[in-house]
Amino acid sequence: ATPTAVMVGTGIGAQNGILIKGGSHLETAHKISAIIFDKTGTLTTGKPIVSNVNIFGNLNNNNNGNNNSGKINKKTFFQMVASAEAASEHPLAGAIVNYAFEVCDVQSTTPPLSFESITGSGIRATLAPNNIEIMIGNLKWIKSEGISYDPTLTISPDRSINNNHHHNDDDDDDEGTLSHIEDQVRRLESDGNTVVYVVIDRQLMGYIAISDQLKPEAHATITELNKMGICTWMVTGDNPRTANAIAQQVGIDQVFAEVLPSNKSKKVMELKKMGHTVAMIGDGINDSPALAEADVGIAIGAGTDIAIEAADIVLVKSDLRDVITAISLSKTTFNRIR
Ligand code: ADP
Ligand code: MG
Repeated sequence: ATPTAVMVGTGIGAQNGILIKGGSHLETAHKISAIIFDKTGTLTTGKPIVSNVNIFGNLNNNNNGNNNSGKINKKTFFQMVASAEAASEHPLAGAIVNYAFEVCDVQSTTPPLSFESITGSGIRATLAPNNIEIMIGNLKWIKSEGISYDPTLTISPDRSINNNHHHNDDDDDDEGTLSHIEDQVRRLESDGNTVVYVVIDRQLMGYIAISDQLKPEAHATITELNKMGICTWMVTGDNPRTANAIAQQVGIDQVFAEVLPSNKSKKVMELKKMGHTVAMIGDGINDSPALAEADVGIAIGAGTDIAIEAADIVLVKSDLRDVITAISLSKTTFNRIR
């Protein structure tokens, strides 16, 4: 292509909300043979909501200075959970804090005395005034911390919540039945929910399921890319069951799950080594090394500044279909004109 043709191509891109940071990126785009999609905020809206809660632990054995015994009530539970999560920047934390305020009538949170965020695992905080330790995170981490977990513990499923945040007791098919935590969680994860466990003073107290809606154009975009012969992958820090459920819903059949943020770029390298020309598409700070490593790094416009900076192409409108437009533009520019 002549320099003029490349300029025209990037110009057309810009007019359509596709920011291409240089002619070489426009050129590589039509060679893309594999695309890795980040999950949260890329395939999903990144605005998760709490979809289910089950509180089954009790404060009996907790030496917390209160006279509390028996099952912890929901407001107290969410007062503690929100105080810890308010210190986290993870999207899951935002969903939990919102839920505490909007649904559980929590009025305010108390800054934790100590706070630690364990990447890919969860958070640990110490709460005032009694130095209560709270851990919120995935099962893998909770188990690795030596918290006793009895998956066959039989508890009644919580029916007070559904995806619309309405209190609704009459649309459940298993009303009155008890089931194992593990079955409940497995079902939630198979529906694409992310489940985090809450541990207070080393006792498993409950779980919180969080769901994040798919972007409306995600499925059609993947279908079209697959038709074009491009392999599609998903990468996420989330557990394999949730990850596979989301992937299946959008039509992606290859998943890298439980990937630590620092390892996302390694997945790009793996596909490059297989001979692919790889595009990575993401929105988060976590994604920036992978965006830089990819042959074509594509950032979601609504994403973080760091991702936008690391990328070669920015989808200003945050519409996934613009990936296809960018590839078409590249084809037009570099195949037709010599
Ligand atoms: P992703 O960006 O795909 O969510 P992360 O590596 O950020 O991946 O997180 C992986 C997992 O770590 C989450 O699915 C969750 O189980 C756990 N986690 C991370 N941060 C928190 C948090 N603030 N509260 C509870 N769990 C968390
Ligand atoms: Mg993301």
